[in-house]
Amino acid sequence: MRLRYLPSPHRDARPAGAVVDLVVLHAISLPPGHFGGRAIDELFLGRLNPREHPYFKGVAKLKVSAHFLIDRQGQVTQYVPVLKRAWHAGVSRWQGRRGCNDFSVGIELEGDEHTPFTKVQYMTLAGLIRTLQTRLSQLRDDRIVGHQHVAPERKWDPGPHFDWGVLRWWLAASLAPPPAFVWPLIWEE
Ligand SMILES: [Zn+2]
Repeated sequence: MRLRYLPSPHRDARPAGAVVDLVVLHAISLPPGHFGGRAIDELFLGRLNPREHPYFKGVAKLKVSAHFLIDRQGQVTQYVPVLKRAWHAGVSRWQGRRGCNDFSVGIELEGDEHTPFTKVQYMTLAGLIRTLQTRLSQLRDDRIVGHQHVAPERKWDPGPHFDWGVLRWWLAASLAPPPAFVWPLIWEE
């Protein structure tokens, strides 16, 4: 499977000297509970049509993005170069540091609050994290958190169906040498 790269305008520079040492995991489905389709791409590209679905009206104007999306089939889409800042975490805090977008990579998993994630999503996520770690040496395995952990008053994702033990299992299985995940990521532009 190939990496899709759809450059989002919802990005900017990270602060000077920022060290990227955190992964923030998210879950998204658009409209909620509906999998497949192009709505997530369109949201992150700033092109979601508010007339297409009643739910879209409330979100179409949001300027949000993530570095990556892993869909239900394990297809990876990148929207923002890793070394740029994507707009995914909002008001957030991790170990006393505010504004997690500055120092994190945002990875969205296509999913919702009610449905288990797929095996291929965990497998692909582990491979993606291992690939990121080839260049981001501070991004250790204990620095992978959920949006719900860095913005607990506002956010539920990736939620009760994200199994952290399964992710750890796949990370252990993807230890070396660079994963069966051979496509080059976009690091900067
Ligand atoms: Zn989120």
